[in-house]
Amino acid sequence: MNVLRFNIFSEYKNIAHAVSTRDFGSMKNTDNTLNKENLKKFLTFLNLSSNAVAMNQVHGGNVAVIDDNSGSLIENTDGLVTSQKNVPLCVVTADCLPLIFYDPEKMAVGVAHAGRRGLAAGVISQTIEKFITKFNSNPKKILVGIGPGIEKKCYEVDGEFVDIRAMATADLIEKDIEEKNIENIDICTKCDTDNFFSYRGGDGTRRFATVIALI
Ligand SMILES: [Zn+2]
Repeated sequence: MNVLRFNIFSEYKNIAHAVSTRDFGSMKNTDNTLNKENLKKFLTFLNLSSNAVAMNQVHGGNVAVIDDNSGSLIENTDGLVTSQKNVPLCVVTADCLPLIFYDPEKMAVGVAHAGRRGLAAGVISQTIEKFITKFNSNPKKILVGIGPGIEKKCYEVDGEFVDIRAMATADLIEKDIEEKNIENIDICTKCDTDNFFSYRGGDGTRRFATVIALI
């Protein structure tokens, strides 16, 4: 069973994180609901509690703060942050970018779902804002991993090639995240269909998961 991990988080023993591959199947069912069985299989593989929090993602800019009683599926949301231990945060994607965040100083984590529309809605700046307002984070301390997504050469919209990875990175830097604290995994989901799902590559409802948790 293959998973993908970011180097930027590897030295930290109080978090767990990974990106799922096709080995774990799709994290969504054909009716667009969460595939809880496959998500649980992935979380178990990571030795994480199965009470993960996922989002009903809508390509918007809403970011929710998760506490013990938030439930397992947050509606109308594209970002999550928490300082709770053993509450895995989950984002599912196929071409859009999955982002995970960790503030080792304030001990808080987050996830975001960022495609073209979510970026335009400010999902990244609103995620960083939640770290600042809820956890008193210093953006210069926050580490960010940007996972597999569709690359510019494969993403043509209305006759133009769109680079969502560059846009996401620029949004982070605009919010005072240090360039050295951003890790981009340069994998194109539409090209690497052996390992990942791709909406433009033909995976209608199929999604892979990116998860981070304080442990
Ligand atoms: Zn590609």
